[in-house]
Amino acid sequence: MQEVMVFGSFLVDLMGRAPHLPVPGETVKGSFFKQGAGGKGFNQAVAAHKAGAKVWMVTKLGRDSLADVALAVMDELGMPKDCLFYNDTVSTGIALILVDEGTAQNEIVIVPGACSTITPADIGAIAPHLRQCAYVLLQLEINQDANEAVAKLAKENGVRVIVNTAPYQQISDEFLRGVWLVTPNEVEAQALTGIAVRDLPSARAAAAVFFEKGVENVLITLGEKGVFVSGGGKEALIPAFRVEAVDTTGAGDAFNGGLLTALADGKDLFEAAHFANALGALSVQKIGATPSMPTRAEIDAFTAQQGILSK
Ligand code: ADP
Repeated sequence: MQEVMVFGSFLVDLMGRAPHLPVPGETVKGSFFKQGAGGKGFNQAVAAHKAGAKVWMVTKLGRDSLADVALAVMDELGMPKDCLFYNDTVSTGIALILVDEGTAQNEIVIVPGACSTITPADIGAIAPHLRQCAYVLLQLEINQDANEAVAKLAKENGVRVIVNTAPYQQISDEFLRGVWLVTPNEVEAQALTGIAVRDLPSARAAAAVFFEKGVENVLITLGEKGVFVSGGGKEALIPAFRVEAVDTTGAGDAFNGGLLTALADGKDLFEAAHFANALGALSVQKIGATPSMPTRAEIDAFTAQQGILSK
């Protein structure tokens, strides 16, 4: 198993349920509150670690009690904390999530806080770890200048860069050039390429836009439909596993963490997408983000049950 890095966000999810979502100026008495570890980077690192990867999680926390939420999860799971940074004046990132009890509709405000203040000095400090890695996985939830700097360093050192283009924001062609793999969902693929991904020809056309920008491989996640993969002159539409979904939050994060793990394990992109589909399918059967990431034992049992060897 090769070493890998997840460079990205940590947010504390602060989730409350209420009979209805408040309108501006209104106060609504809620019925339930839960706090948990989140942020796309952190979720993906947890998914990869639980799936068996040797993963360095790089993020930045505040000097506050919210940071302890990250540390508690990392300690419990035995994840290395060598690549955590602290901002003395900016608070740990948070996601305020309000859920309507009746309709399950939600309203979310994200304040990335400390994890959007990653500096060139921080990147310099993790460079020795990065150089040991086969892959680095990025998302778009931290300050983009840090993503650009780490991608540049990785490319210069022969470390393959994977960009999960979530949450959507505009990114430069310079950033995409030389990226080994992009993993948008359908919505992000459309926003980034201008092509609505509905079927094989449209997925192929969207992938072509990324190839023109100098991306080597393209993987578009299609929710319950599975995933489109294209690279090295090959392409495939790999179906998702058929499961009963109860909460699709974090499906993309589980998928990306699983993908990273399988790649680090030496699988090719198409095999890795199969493995990642299993993590996506397992995560949608449980509520929550990090707690719903499956263990390697659960993944192996599931893939064996589905008649697919995971090794
Ligand atoms: P995101 O959460 O980023 O929008 P998707 O909805 O495309 O991402 O889901 C990511 C992956 O999770 C899919 O490619 C698939 O492997 C898995 N997945 C998502 N929804 C389901 C589902 N209902 N059943 C089975 N697998 C699912």
